[in-house]
Amino acid sequence: MMTCDWDATSGWHHPKIEPIGELKIHPGAKVLHYASELFEGMKAYRGVDNKIRMFRPEMNMARMKRTAIRAALPDFDSEEMINVLTEMLRLDQEWVPNSDVCSLYMRPTLIGTDPTLGVGCATEAKMFVITGPVGAYYSTGFQPVSLLADSRFIRAFPGGVGAYKMGCNYAPTIWVGKEAASKNCQQVLWLYGENEDLTEVGTMNIFLFWKNEEGDMELITPPLHRGLILPGVTRDSLLELGREWGEYKVTERTLNMQEVKKALAEKRLYEMFGSGTACVVSPVGKILYHNKVTDEYEELHIPTMSSKHGVMQKFYNTINDIQYGRLIKDGWMRD
Ligand code: PMP
Repeated sequence: MMTCDWDATSGWHHPKIEPIGELKIHPGAKVLHYASELFEGMKAYRGVDNKIRMFRPEMNMARMKRTAIRAALPDFDSEEMINVLTEMLRLDQEWVPNSDVCSLYMRPTLIGTDPTLGVGCATEAKMFVITGPVGAYYSTGFQPVSLLADSRFIRAFPGGVGAYKMGCNYAPTIWVGKEAASKNCQQVLWLYGENEDLTEVGTMNIFLFWKNEEGDMELITPPLHRGLILPGVTRDSLLELGREWGEYKVTERTLNMQEVKKALAEKRLYEMFGSGTACVVSPVGKILYHNKVTDEYEELHIPTMSSKHGVMQKFYNTINDIQYGRLIKDGWMRD
């Protein structure tokens, strides 16, 4: 693991990479009381040429810096952090699986550690990075997920911190996840506002491929500007590839449940999928929608798995080819 301490007087100390062990922390530490914590989730891949590379680490570090500032935790130098991650990968190279379906997950974390119970800026902090190999996400092919969509539960709101990767965004979702599981749903479709706008799915961004009311084939994902959505690295990558291919319209816009229901009824909705580092893409097969007017649940079947358009599949194949070095996309893989 890597650890690096910071204090307000002397700034960042020297980073250390040593065998993983427990952290010693004062019980008054800010992180333990006010959730002064943020993290990143990224992966390193062993390419078909046996070279180890990270996927767009600059984007993770940029997001981590934005989050650190919003969390009143110390800012840091992105390039220094990428150097540290690269050095960890050099030392831990045997832990990067020799397989083009596996990878090494990397979890940079930043916590406020000063033992002062006042709610205020951290004067001491600790950055650490832990890693671990992860196996194939889809060992038996794509598995479509069922989503609970219930606007009585909210993940984020304008002016809040939904756009930042802070631990405090995740703890309150665990109970909702249990609620979803009790209804045989694997993930939560996070809705927001009067119109029940779609925002995210579980810990993924959401994409929809449909024929819009004007008759255009269109890939849609909700926009970032309201601060409700985590700006996913995968989301950004899919948008860039979709725009580059020019095979259909690519739109970032607010999308609500009524539009989804109407498109389904008119058989214009072809694919819905989540996007994220863990899985690249994750097909949606069903939405269990809580109708707030009738207070009843409705089952909406999403035909992602039988789509002839193959939009999700092409994204999956392309991102995988890039990550394992079979396809070069300038500036995306870093060794
Ligand atoms: N939304 C949330 C809430 C997440 O936790 C994640 C995972 N980081 C994502 C979206 C997807 O982001 P990325 O593509 O960077 O993994």
